[in-house]
Parts: sequence; structure tokens; C-alpha cells
Amino acid sequence: MKKIYLKRGKEESLLRFHPWVFSGAIGSFEQDPEEGEVVEVYTSSKEFIATGHFQIGSIMIRVLSFEQESINQAFYEKRLATAYDVRKCIGVVDNPSNNTYRLVHGEGDNLPGLVIDIYGKTAVMQAHSVGMHVDRMVIAKALKQVLGDKVENIFYKSETTLPFKADLGQENGFLLGGSSEDIAIENGLKFHVDWLKGQKTGFFVDQRENRSLLEHYALNRNVLNMFCYTGGFSFYAMRGGAKLVHSVDSSQKAIDLTKANVALNFPDDPRHKAFAEDAFKFLDNMTTPYDLIILDPPAFAKHKDALRNALKGYTRLNQKAFEKIQSGGILFTFSCSQVVTKDNFRTAVFTAAAQAKRSVRILHQLHQPADHPINIFHPEGEYLKGLVLYVE
Ligand code: SAH
Repeated sequence: MKKIYLKRGKEESLLRFHPWVFSGAIGSFEQDPEEGEVVEVYTSSKEFIATGHFQIGSIMIRVLSFEQESINQAFYEKRLATAYDVRKCIGVVDNPSNNTYRLVHGEGDNLPGLVIDIYGKTAVMQAHSVGMHVDRMVIAKALKQVLGDKVENIFYKSETTLPFKADLGQENGFLLGGSSEDIAIENGLKFHVDWLKGQKTGFFVDQRENRSLLEHYALNRNVLNMFCYTGGFSFYAMRGGAKLVHSVDSSQKAIDLTKANVALNFPDDPRHKAFAEDAFKFLDNMTTPYDLIILDPPAFAKHKDALRNALKGYTRLNQKAFEKIQSGGILFTFSCSQVVTKDNFRTAVFTAAAQAKRSVRILHQLHQPADHPINIFHPEGEYLKGLVLYVE
């Protein structure tokens, strides 16, 4: 393995087991590595400190291990077996009312750059680093070894998640099997999953528990599900006895998926309507008296420098909802931007409530579910935060 030497004193974060090495910390290369190659990291005094994937960019090394070990199929089997064990502990494996869960959550499972979501007997694998792309076949073999006959298909979906500049010519496709069975079951509700063209791995697995909570607030309410994508929250609201449910997304494809999912779960149910419209415009123009609103927008900030504008965006969006929601209404509001902290988000929503002059109580503080674990040494892994609010 090629060796990389850090600048003096730049081993601090690695000593605290943080899994990233930034380009500014790197002193010298013994030999230039290829993108995606496994390298060994040494301190300036030539002591081994970590093994990881090399990539050109601001994060240059993603640490796979703090030991000197080979990154081969046995390594991935070990990591995947632990990840699987964690999901067994949580109770998401072999659960008849739920065949959908996240098996690997990047740094949270000590596999930076890798995401694997399970939909029944299909695993959808996504590489966010060149190293994981290079290792994809080995990972697929390790996955089959660990899950045995619980996985029959492995779909690789990394066309849009890998750095464009690395020019890897990657295509989405099956690494194993090829079933077109595409129904995810979440808490007994059914969803079409579009592996080929859908967002993320085809479904937002991370809102499972928050959707469940919403079900308990839905009885006799007029529900507005903003940024609905495949309609997740809408079906929980319908099952929970909502009076009417309106789903809004600016993407026509998302609305088509939502309608297909209505047909799967509540065929011809007159309570549901879907609108392909911009959320901000919809909130400005709406006249229906909604008393349960969900705001689950895409990440407004993908990088630190976009933070200020993102916070303004959250304030503007939430203010519109506060201005329109009925008295005694419930607002489920989320941010999935990694760079927006819990406190940042709460301040943005607080500002919105003040500007709309509404009296607001926090009922629940929500976060990502346990199958999206956070590595304690990598606080950046905490990305999803939400508030459930009572608006007087
Ligand atoms: N709540 C969804 C996930 C939301 S993902 C779930 O539970 O699965 C964010 C969605 O916001 C995407 O589907 C995207 O198409 C949509 N979107 C992005 N910008 C929008 C806008 N300005 N108005 C309405 N929808 C928007």
C-alpha cells in the first residue's frame, strides 16, 4: 500500500477517530496514489495511524480502519456483518410489516462513502466516493456472503453520487440478479421504488419513524404534505383517519409516483389529491384550511458557504406555513441539510414563528432513525432534524 505522510500536528483529529483527512493536512506522498486506491496514513514522525480510500478533493482520505489491515472481501464482510447485527438489534430485519431499511450508513457504519438500502430481497448500493466505486464488486460479493439468501439482487446506483470530475463512466445496473419487483413495505404500507431514476436509492428510508408519529396526529385533520416525493407521509395520514390529504411536489414524476402509491394502498380514496406545484407558490395561493402540515424540503445547503441562505430559506418556508395553518394546527417541519445544526434549524423556525406572530409550542424533536446511526467520532453524520409544533 502506498504511504501518505501528514504535516506535523495534523494527526489530532485522527487520534480522536474522526474518519476524514482534509487535503490541507497532507504533507507528502511516498508515491502518487490513484483515485480510489487504498492508502496508509502516517504521522510526520512516520507512525502508522490509519488506512483509507484516497480521493482528489477537499476530503482526501476517508478512513476505513485505524488498524494496518488489508481492505479486501474479508474486511467488507466483517464491517457488513456488524452493520447487519446493528439492524437486527433495532428490529428492522425479518419484520413482516417492514421489508425496507438502511443496512449501511457511510461513516455511521465505519464505511465512509457507502450507502446500502434494503428493499425486500433487493439491496440498492450507492457509492459516494471513488474508493467505494472501485471496490463495488468486492462489496457486492461480501454482501451476498453476509446476507445469504436474504438478498437476491444488488442494484448499483451511483450515476449521480460520484464526483463528476473523476470521470468514472459509471452506469446504474444490477451487480447481482435483476428482479423488477419493486415494492417496498414500510409499517405495512406499500411503495413503488424507482431504483433506476428515483432520488437517493429510490425512497426516503429515513422518515419511517417520523411518518409513524404523524399517523397518530392525523385523525379528522386536513393534511398538507409538502415536498411529498413518493407520498410517504400522506399514506400514514390517510391510515390515521385524516379528513383529506393533499400531496404537493414540484416534480411531475414524484406526483405520478405518489398517485401510483395511492392506487396501491387506498385505491380510489376520494380523500387524496396530488398537485405538481412549487411549494412556495402553493403556500401563497392555498385557501384550504389545513390543520396538519408537513414540510420536508430537499437539503437547502449542501456546503458550509450556503448556510446563511439556507437558513433564510427555512425561515421563509416555515413562516408561510405559520401564516396559513389553522389555529390548533400541527406542523411537522424538517431539515435534512448536514451543515444545518439542530440549533441553527430551531432558530430559523423560531424566527419564522415570530415573524408570523404565532404562539408555538415544541411537542417533539425528531431525528434520523436508528438504522441511520451516527458514528460518535463523526458528529457531521447527524443530518436529519425535525420539530413537531403546536400552533395556537
Ligand atoms: N417527504 C418525502 C421526501 C422529500 S424529498 C418523503 O417522505 O419521501 C424532497 C422533495 O422536494 C423532492 O421530491 C423534490 O422533487 C421536491 N421539491 C424540491 N423543490 C421543490 C419546490 N420548490 N416545491 C415543491 N417540491 C420541491
